[in-house]
Amino acid sequence: MTSHTATTLTVGALSAGPGTKVRGSVRAELGTLTTDIPLALINGSRPGPRVVITAGVHGGEFTGIDAAHRLADRLDPEQVRGQVLLCLVANPPAVYNGRLGTSPLDGVNINRVFPGDPEGSPTERLAAWLFENIVEDADAYIDLHAGRIDEFLRNFVGYRLTGDPELDAKTATMARVVGHEDVILGLNADGGNSHAAAARRGIPAILVETGQLGERDPQAAEGLVAALLRVLDFLNGDDVEPRPVTEWLWVGFVASEAIGLWYPEFTPGTDVTEGQVIGRVVDPADGREHEVRATATGRVFYGMRGLTVLPGTDLAAIAAPR
Ligand SMILES: [Zn+2]
Repeated sequence: MTSHTATTLTVGALSAGPGTKVRGSVRAELGTLTTDIPLALINGSRPGPRVVITAGVHGGEFTGIDAAHRLADRLDPEQVRGQVLLCLVANPPAVYNGRLGTSPLDGVNINRVFPGDPEGSPTERLAAWLFENIVEDADAYIDLHAGRIDEFLRNFVGYRLTGDPELDAKTATMARVVGHEDVILGLNADGGNSHAAAARRGIPAILVETGQLGERDPQAAEGLVAALLRVLDFLNGDDVEPRPVTEWLWVGFVASEAIGLWYPEFTPGTDVTEGQVIGRVVDPADGREHEVRATATGRVFYGMRGLTVLPGTDLAAIAAPR
């Protein structure tokens, strides 16, 4: 791991010398999209790794954004070792316009297209900008998410195995230091999640899911701040006790086959059996019911709470013990 000290931390026009903290925004000029990304650069007066934390990759996921803001306020560059680069709102169009998981500009879920494409759609260009300017030079990366306004969710930490035993072991410990009881692994680092793309570059990277349903619970945000401080201590070599966790693998996703009104018969944390009816979609035109069945046996970690769904709307995500 690189030791970042006595070097200036710079993103675009924002820069923080050693021992200083700077908050502001950096304009991303992407041709088809211009947007201002709020950042906090905390450049410690002591050596240590560069830790990157992103929040607001999706809209409507408030706990992470709230916690990132609280952490930016609280971190004192005199006390910080290494550098902490906080990106408080990574995806302003999705966060501010509609508070959605997809961008209103192009309908793209940015967390499916990392490391992005500088010649692509507005959201693909934003992913490329974020990856190049924020994520790529990290020594460790934490991406903060929550259940969206219409999504219930049981807290968990996610990460991907890369096949590099040293990297995977470090990431596993980072995940356990967070303090959420459940850790959900991916068996490879494929795909467009920002933490997967970072893992492919050899960066220990975790996804931290905290809170649900657009809640803005100060206690949950403070709990997440404490978790992030523990991870920072661990990354600086302190003796931080990893918490006991249960490890899970994703085994099934359930999408709606019909348009209509969704009546779930589970909550996050409910154990389901493959084939079990987990809810019904009712056609408001004729009152006809479509049964929705679990596609796998395991525990539901997140699902749709909103009443109105379309064909293809994600209804439930199921994981099984590893
Ligand atoms: Zn999210």
